[in-house]
Amino acid sequence: MSFEDKVVLITGAAGGIGLATAKSFAKEGAKLALVDLNQETLEKAASTIDATDVLTLTANVAKEEEAKAYVEKTKEHYGRIDVFINNAGINGDYQFITDITEENIKKVLDVNVMGVFFGLKYVLQVMKEQKSGAVVNTASNGGWLGAPGMSAYVASKHAVVGITKSAALEGAQYGVRVNAVAPTAVDTDMMKRIESNTNPEDAAAAKKAIEASIPMGRYSTPEEIADLMVFLSSDKASFISGTYYRIDGGQSST
Ligand code: NAD
Repeated sequence: MSFEDKVVLITGAAGGIGLATAKSFAKEGAKLALVDLNQETLEKAASTIDATDVLTLTANVAKEEEAKAYVEKTKEHYGRIDVFINNAGINGDYQFITDITEENIKKVLDVNVMGVFFGLKYVLQVMKEQKSGAVVNTASNGGWLGAPGMSAYVASKHAVVGITKSAALEGAQYGVRVNAVAPTAVDTDMMKRIESNTNPEDAAAAKKAIEASIPMGRYSTPEEIADLMVFLSSDKASFISGTYYRIDGGQSST
C-alpha cells in the first residue's frame, strides 16, 4: 500500500486518531498536510512524525472560509490532494434531550457536520478536477447506535454517514471514492472526556462499563483505526465507495 508521492490531508491531526493516521500514512511514504485548531499543539504533534514533507495548517474546520483556505494552501503547496481524512470532531456536553441546550447542539453540529461539509466541498472540487481521490470521513459507532447524554453527537455522526453516501454518488463518475469509518471507543483524549462526563465521580467506573459493552473487552487503539483509514484510502480499496465500516471489537454483532 505505497503512498509514495501521494498527498494526504488530515483534519483533527493533533488528536489521537488524526495523529496516529498521519504516522501510518508517513510510514507508507505520503506527503502530509495537517490541520488543527492550535498551531503550537499541531507543530508539537507534527514533530513526532517521521516524514520529510509535513505542512501544518491552523484552521477551525467549522468556518467555511478557513476550510477553503486549508484546502487551497494544500493544493498550492503540493499541487494536488490524493487523500482527505475528514476527521476533526468534538463530543460536546453530556446532556439528556430533556435538558439539552441549543448552544450544545449547535456547537457539536457546527464542527461535526458543517466542518465535514466544508472540507468536502473544497476537497471534492480539487479531486473532481484531477479525476481521482479518496476521502475517509470519521463517523462513529454513534452513527449507527444511540448513546444517552450524547444525542447531539449521535445525530452529527448519523449525518456524517448520510453525507458520505451522497458524496460517494457525486464523486463516482470522477474516480473519487468516499467512505467513512465508524469506531467504537478509541483510546484518545475524547474518550477520557466522555468517561468523566458520563460519571464525574468515578471516570474509571465509566471506562469499565464501556469496555464491558465491547465483546473484545477493550477500547481500540488509534493505530487500529489508522490502519482502516489507510486501507480505505489505498488502491486495495479501489471498488469500495459510499459505505462505512464499523470497527468495534465485535459490538456490531450484539
Ligand atoms: P481527539 O479529541 O483526540 O482529537 C480531535 C482533534 O480534532 C483535536 O486535536 C482537536 O483539536 C481537533 N478539532 C476539534 N475541533 C476542531 C475544529 N473545529 N477545527 C479543527 N480541529 C478541531 O479525538 P479523537 O478520538 O482523535 O477523535 C477524532 C475523530 O474520531 C472525531 O471525529 C471523533 O468524533 C471520532 N471518533 C472518536 C471515537 C473515540 O472513541 N475516541 C470514537 C468514534 C469516533
